[in-house]
Amino acid sequence: MSSTYHEDGDTVKEVSAGIITLKKASGDRRYLLLRHENGGHWSFPKGHLEEGETAKEAAVRELYEETRLEVFEFVNGFRREINYSYKREGRKVAKSVIYFLAFVPRDLEVNLSPEHLDFIWLPYREARKRLTYGNDQRLLDRAEVKLKKGCYSYEG
Ligand code: ATP
Repeated sequence: MSSTYHEDGDTVKEVSAGIITLKKASGDRRYLLLRHENGGHWSFPKGHLEEGETAKEAAVRELYEETRLEVFEFVNGFRREINYSYKREGRKVAKSVIYFLAFVPRDLEVNLSPEHLDFIWLPYREARKRLTYGNDQRLLDRAEVKLKKGCYSYEG
């Protein structure tokens, strides 16, 4: 059985991992948001864990597959999980997504995969407004708090 899906009665459990992706921009920070083709929601890069992968490995692979971006530097100690459920083919899916926080080089171009409709780089407050789901907004708040505490000086 894959590490991603577990049957539990009528509920399917699903695990994904992602990266709250940042770049430096003229003295400010910008967060990357992607617009998903399935539902049109705005969220962070993420995807399902493959067999034998750690959450961090999956998050790095998914970032690359979805955007062609590569991590320059992870923000140490940031690892947070969100949980939500949705219906797929009449069955309840209980989903967990483990998120990391990382900077990418500012000069790398996003090259979007077909599973997304659009992308945007936004500062914190605008990114918060653009995110579709409250749990993603609260996650962004935690990222911002972590960055403020850490005094990150990365200039990539
Ligand atoms: P992955 O990106 O992990 O491969 P996916 O593309 O299969 O996942 P999700 O982005 O998890 O799918 O979306 C599946 C359903 O869950 C959609 O109906 C979507 O609107 C909803 N959804 C997505 N993100 C959230 C969230 N943060 N909170 C609540 N519901 C969400």
